[in-house]
Amino acid sequence: MIIDAHQHLGICDTFDHNVTEEDVLNTLNANKIDGTIIFPFPGSMDEKGDHDRIYALTQKYPKRFFGVISLNPHIQKIDYLTEVERLVKLGFKAIKIHPYGHACNPIYKTVDKVFEAANTFNLPVIIHTGIGTPSALPSNAIPRAKQYPHLKIVLAHAGAYIYSIEALITAKECPNIYLEPSWVPAFVIKNFVKEIGAHRVMFGSDILASQASELCKFTSTLSGPELDQCLYGTVKEVFNLSV
Ligand SMILES: [Zn+2]
Repeated sequence: MIIDAHQHLGICDTFDHNVTEEDVLNTLNANKIDGTIIFPFPGSMDEKGDHDRIYALTQKYPKRFFGVISLNPHIQKIDYLTEVERLVKLGFKAIKIHPYGHACNPIYKTVDKVFEAANTFNLPVIIHTGIGTPSALPSNAIPRAKQYPHLKIVLAHAGAYIYSIEALITAKECPNIYLEPSWVPAFVIKNFVKEIGAHRVMFGSDILASQASELCKFTSTLSGPELDQCLYGTVKEVFNLSV
């Protein structure tokens, strides 16, 4: 089994993408990938509409699509919490923040509501890391990981190579931090598994055109139970997936 821990749906004004349901399904099928975590892009012009499209996918293909909440954190707290509650009731599995795309540093006050919502509903939090520093530095997750030691935090892109060592140090410092190393070279991913174990590393691809090559980084450097753990075990455990 293979589950991608990082995919998007919808239009992204910030990074100029437009991904449709058909695009995602065709790519999953082409790459023989069983399922994917999926969330709106930062820079979505219609966050509610994109979450509703993701919900529709999870209803149509319940073992293939697992929704994650990605909302602009600069809205009123009451509106943020109300929308998170609505989406949790629809089965969404986690919350994502994008320090670059949402213009928010994880340590800033505006992100308090994100972690309060995650704490209320016991959801993992995915934080984009790498491109977009200083807000996207992996170590910005440390204060939140220590503030909420029972919450799981996933560092998307695991520092995106240039800050991968910092992502590794961050994960070693905080046992509730996990690494999703899309955009990171294969030899670094192999070292992550050696240093913190496969149970804290998960395959993710971010961009559909990168899915096959991101997968190959794992299949070409790992094998046996370690490979299985990275391809579906860790994502299943962290996001509490019923697969
Ligand atoms: Zn992404």
